[in-house]
Amino acid sequence: MWITMDVEEAQDMNFNIKWKKTPDIDYKEPIEWFIKHSKNKTATAFVLGSFAKKHPEIVKELSKHVEIASHGYFHKLVYTQNFKDWEYELLKSKEILEELTQKEVIGYRSPSWSMPFEKRYYEALAKGGFKYSSSYFPMKNYLYGNEINKKKPFIVSTKYGDIQERPIPKDIIPFSGGFYMRVLPLFLLKHFFKKHKDAVMYIHPYELIDKNLLRYFLKYAHINLDYFLAFFHLGSTRKKIKEIVNG
Ligand SMILES: [Zn+2]
Repeated sequence: MWITMDVEEAQDMNFNIKWKKTPDIDYKEPIEWFIKHSKNKTATAFVLGSFAKKHPEIVKELSKHVEIASHGYFHKLVYTQNFKDWEYELLKSKEILEELTQKEVIGYRSPSWSMPFEKRYYEALAKGGFKYSSSYFPMKNYLYGNEINKKKPFIVSTKYGDIQERPIPKDIIPFSGGFYMRVLPLFLLKHFFKKHKDAVMYIHPYELIDKNLLRYFLKYAHINLDYFLAFFHLGSTRKKIKEIVNG
């Protein structure tokens, strides 16, 4: 299993959340929890450039324990962005992370799996010095995803070099992170993770706040459908991860 975290702030998410005010979350604690529970495992943190700018000490500490990769600079949906703007932000995030951690950044995950599956994006990644991407989500929903179900990592060859794409796994449905991991019961998750041994797990710092998030975020956001998509999990994430990682 490859444990990954998309390191971003709650207000960066692309769900249509109507914020009342910016959440004042202490990100240090959930990220320390992630470090502790990914010990001796293959783990990567895809860090948003803007997060690294705001919380440099947290990212520096994180880089001592897990691989640091890029999650872009702002959490914009790539398919809504001008290609050149996306490329500029990609390289900017790489530069910031490398300067901060003094380590080479070779991995990229697009915000909300929103990078179109097109050659020019892989070309730009290879040209920019990246070696792999984890931007491929195997089911289309209203926000992101691709229809083709690729089960294993595969290579996209470009004139600037090869990029390995490491897709998110799918069983009957995707299961290995975010909304899917929150809503699926633990017994089913355990079954899926056992069956898909190389599964990529993905989590977010705000999903690891040890509270009932449905209630916790009430002071920050108005209730609508996306509120439930974003925060429904009744504080189950830590327990689920512990059981899956150790089981
Ligand atoms: Zn993200």
